[in-house]
Amino acid sequence: MSPFVPYAIGRHYLYQHRLRSAAKRSACPICGRPLGISALFEADEGWRSHIARLHRAHPGARLRLIRFVHAICADCGARLSFREHSGTFTPSEVLA
Ligand SMILES: [Zn+2]
Repeated sequence: MSPFVPYAIGRHYLYQHRLRSAAKRSACPICGRPLGISALFEADEGWRSHIARLHRAHPGARLRLIRFVHAICADCGARLSFREHSGTFTPSEVLA
């Protein structure tokens, strides 16, 4: 196992923690309603089906995946990107 793996996992948990706490205290920049954890679940669902579609379209391909949508507003459906350095959500121009 690569010595970088534990660091990557720790990094992932820290990121998830930041993402969740930001979602709990943030409001949608479009409609102003609170986002909450459910906005993250909504985006995760979309992300999983996006990956499944890519795998079906390119079987066996190594996919380079960059995620742009981290939260989807349950009220207005805005697709939001998480800015880790500022801990805020901004509307994403990319639909993935
Ligand atoms: Zn909204």
